[in-house]
Amino acid sequence: MRLLIKNGRVIDPSSKKDEIADILVEDDKILKVAENICEDSDEILDASGCFVMPGLIDLHVHLRDPGLEYKENIETGSMAAAKGGFTTIVAMANTLPVIDSGEKISSIYEKAARLSPIHVLQAGAVTKGMQGEELADIASMAACGAAALSEDGKTVMDAALYQEGLRTAAKFNLPVLDHCEDADLKGKGVMNECETSRKYGLPGIPNEVEDRIIERDIQLAAETGARLHICHCSTKGSVDLVRQGKDRGINVTAEVCPHHFTLTSGDIPPDDTNYKMAPPLRSKEDVNALIKGLADGTIDTISTDHAPHAAHEKDKDWRKAAFGIVGLETAVALTITRLVEPGYLTPMMMAERMSTAPARILGIDKGSLQKGKTADIVIIDPSHAYKIDKNTFVSKGRNTPFHGWDVKGKVRHTICDGRIVYSDL
Ligand SMILES: [Zn+2]
Repeated sequence: MRLLIKNGRVIDPSSKKDEIADILVEDDKILKVAENICEDSDEILDASGCFVMPGLIDLHVHLRDPGLEYKENIETGSMAAAKGGFTTIVAMANTLPVIDSGEKISSIYEKAARLSPIHVLQAGAVTKGMQGEELADIASMAACGAAALSEDGKTVMDAALYQEGLRTAAKFNLPVLDHCEDADLKGKGVMNECETSRKYGLPGIPNEVEDRIIERDIQLAAETGARLHICHCSTKGSVDLVRQGKDRGINVTAEVCPHHFTLTSGDIPPDDTNYKMAPPLRSKEDVNALIKGLADGTIDTISTDHAPHAAHEKDKDWRKAAFGIVGLETAVALTITRLVEPGYLTPMMMAERMSTAPARILGIDKGSLQKGKTADIVIIDPSHAYKIDKNTFVSKGRNTPFHGWDVKGKVRHTICDGRIVYSDL
């Protein structure tokens, strides 16, 4: 089977190439990247006017499978990812039951092999049942192919236990995806502590909730040699701490989610819980620091923190509504509209932050369009303007604050292992 992608703007951070070219794919591999390829093929995709990038990689997805399939499952979540241009995603461990053993990792991989059009990698919990009391069976999870460890959804508050977890992760060379929120300091907080939270009379979440755990965990990474990746940075302080950690030579990387570089807490309308997530939307000053961090490379990746919930879980009082929003089907458009179009990121930097850097963090041979590599490719029309419509989502989740937004940037085709797994028709 041969697939020929014609006349696209091929953007490949792994070779630093940004040029109009064709890509010839044979079976699951890239056979050739060159101008005007005339060889025979079984199918031709016209990519004129489009970005052709290595398939996007999302380090932070909640597939809610097993146990919470009413919110999402492996099939719907991975289809939503394919529609969003992602060819590899990392699923978080806070399911029911929690993914905390090799056996459970294997059962996800068996299911994904049957049901997902893209590569699903699974993260294992750091502690048993995510209870924060004793370490999970990290050795067995590593043996069964866990891609990372993560207690995402919360922080392991016992620093000594987390230190042991990081040391074990380092022993098995697993990156640790780190959700940083001090549970004690957060208390019952549901919104950034600011004018808006005071106006709405809601308990606030100050920036220190995030910053003090990031500071603690970067120090623990320095002590243990673990590969630490800070999830969903939302504060100015987080960017400063990651920058300082990198300057000190510590193995720390970080991500920002599209909602955190797009919205501020001042944008939150009364009673719209689609603006409620953890960490919360922050101030303009924080958003500016996140964008600057993304632009100067302090922040390595853009991840979605795709967090689907059922309508009844969001349609509640702000205090009681679930934290989190969906993100797989809006990430490309928000990145192009808010970062690439205004000139904060070049298309090359977008490909780096959304594919090549996450591949490097995971230690997988992806995020490249060079000859011989696996044909995981996304074709994006950056100038296509449209309105985001939550009713067109493939995800079961409709919990987005971006419904009705005018954006630019549409995924035209997603190709995984040389197969077209999504086309926008
Ligand atoms: Zn999280």
